[in-house]
Amino acid sequence: MIKNKGYMGKILVVDLTSGEIREETLPDAVYEKHLGGLGLAAHILYARIPAGADPLGPDNMLAFVPGLLTGTGSLFTGRWMVAGKSPLTGGWGDANCGGTFAPEIKRCGYDGIFIKGISEKPVYLYVDDHTRELRDASTVWGLDTVEAEEYLETHAKEKGKKPKVVCIGPAGEKLSLISGISTDKGRMAARSGLGAVMGSKRLKAVVLSGQKRIGAHDRNEMKRLSRMCNKWVQFQPPFVTGPMTAFVGALLRVMPTVLTQDGMLYKILLKKWGTVSMNQMSPEMGDSPIKNWKGSSRDWGFRKSYSTNPDVFKNCEIVKFHCYSCPLGCGGICTMDDKYTHTHKPEYETVLSLGGFCMNQDVKGIFYLNELLNRAGMDTISAGHAVAFALECYEEGIITRKDTDGLDLTWGNAEAIVALVEKMVKREGFGHVLADGVKQAALRIGKGAEAFAVLAGGQEPAMHDSRNDPGFALHYSVEPTPGRHTLGSHLYYEMYQLWKVVKGIPKIPPMYLKGSKYKNPEKQAAIGAANSRFMTLVNCTGACLFASFLGAKRFPLFDWMNAANGWQLTPNDYMDLAGDIHTIKQSFNVKHGIEPKDCKISDRALGRPLQTEGANKGRSIDIEAMMTHYWEQFGWDGRTGKPSPETMKRLDGGV
Ligand code: SF4
Repeated sequence: MIKNKGYMGKILVVDLTSGEIREETLPDAVYEKHLGGLGLAAHILYARIPAGADPLGPDNMLAFVPGLLTGTGSLFTGRWMVAGKSPLTGGWGDANCGGTFAPEIKRCGYDGIFIKGISEKPVYLYVDDHTRELRDASTVWGLDTVEAEEYLETHAKEKGKKPKVVCIGPAGEKLSLISGISTDKGRMAARSGLGAVMGSKRLKAVVLSGQKRIGAHDRNEMKRLSRMCNKWVQFQPPFVTGPMTAFVGALLRVMPTVLTQDGMLYKILLKKWGTVSMNQMSPEMGDSPIKNWKGSSRDWGFRKSYSTNPDVFKNCEIVKFHCYSCPLGCGGICTMDDKYTHTHKPEYETVLSLGGFCMNQDVKGIFYLNELLNRAGMDTISAGHAVAFALECYEEGIITRKDTDGLDLTWGNAEAIVALVEKMVKREGFGHVLADGVKQAALRIGKGAEAFAVLAGGQEPAMHDSRNDPGFALHYSVEPTPGRHTLGSHLYYEMYQLWKVVKGIPKIPPMYLKGSKYKNPEKQAAIGAANSRFMTLVNCTGACLFASFLGAKRFPLFDWMNAANGWQLTPNDYMDLAGDIHTIKQSFNVKHGIEPKDCKISDRALGRPLQTEGANKGRSIDIEAMMTHYWEQFGWDGRTGKPSPETMKRLDGGV
């Protein structure tokens, strides 16, 4: 075992077809080049998934990876990722999740678990310090994610230690292309449809229970950095009431100038309410897409969004939820006066996608749908998109009650929305039409329905309006995993304050004219490339996006990597490594036949046609110019988005 490094030096490779389970030892050079987490997954999956592999076939591989920093004494680094070829987009797929699972992978002795093949019957993988085996999962197949996790925690428990579990629910078992993987009874690695990959392999769960020590090169330095970071996390001035956040949003909307945002403001909101702090602020400032992207802040104004004001959620919270090594705790466990008595606090993405996005003010229904979808193991962003898409098709007369099993799919009909999602989860009647997301639903409905499908590379984009922030438009369109809000935006870049530690990237002045954000595609592309590189590092280390908002001086990611591994790299060295990892993901897509330019987000989300009212009135994004400049930042072909032969040659040794 490698001593005094943040990584374990080994991966576990499982073949479900043959039943073979073996360890592989990796040389230091792999970590020095690919770091860990997402980088390690990209390195292995690029090489081992053959071109043209069926995402739901035996050749696809699933990677479960913690971060390079997980368990080393750094803060906010307890997140894990699942990666593989996405059945939703046909290209690189990954999903990120918190909870308590990530360190357990390392405690079992591994930097990643890689699974290929297809089992003949449902199984789960069990690993502890001495055992690695595939076990019969017939008793848990068919159970929802919470039931399955509870069962496995009890029945797979050895020597008194509760194991950590990730599992799929009925959505993954039924191969829903918008299904995810759950842990901690309701935390979801939701995006890219990787739950269906697990379902196709007949792998219900991965159950881990390890006790191995996780190393770090300089523990004292790790502690010093963590103490410094924690001081900023604990700084928490009192903040007004939930509905007051709407006024902050409205103020940001009307101001012609922008004060460059310090992420401390968002940290304060997160610590108090979690992501639901955005429920009213985002619609007011134009950050929330409304009514399947055709509405505006006018349609979902203060009075309507008030039903979802942050205090409503705070008042239901009985205990805060912290991911492993997180001193902030933006999550929460809430009580419900319903079928389910306890539930994870819904995230902003869920509240908006099933709320304002569908013009639905029924907050109790949203709580219920959040729990229902988490238990089914279905992505709430994609599910909300599918519902809103159906509501618009119904409004346009493309579908009628005859198609919808009698449901009256008018905007905001809370009862019908609940009934529709229940059908989606069961793949029953009209629910089957929507159960694989918007792209498949448009194909199944036909009759011109695709005109109302808002997608990026086949994936439903998240609940942040690209007309408000050109950075979202760019990242939705150019990332190897398109449609993702966690990979970059102009606002995120302001909060990262990366230019304070990384040389040669754009600096944002303390104050600037709002309109200037939309006028310089070249600068936006340089900002976007820095965002992508930095988020690659965040995802290689197992760090949390929200912690990055503290700013590069307060969240010492680069210093932690050096202290944990005895490296002496500069922030620019790390950004270069991240660029190479990003290029491997793009190369994965090219290898699997993806045309990067086809991943551009739908016109409606780019302000084509222009909105005539609301916060984003008159705004459109010159996405084509931004995409070209962005690709060139990585040495890829500016016309096609494909890595050039020279770039690939340089990476050859690494992939
Ligand atoms: S801030 Fe929230 S999402 Fe991030 S690690 Fe902490 S609890 Fe998890």
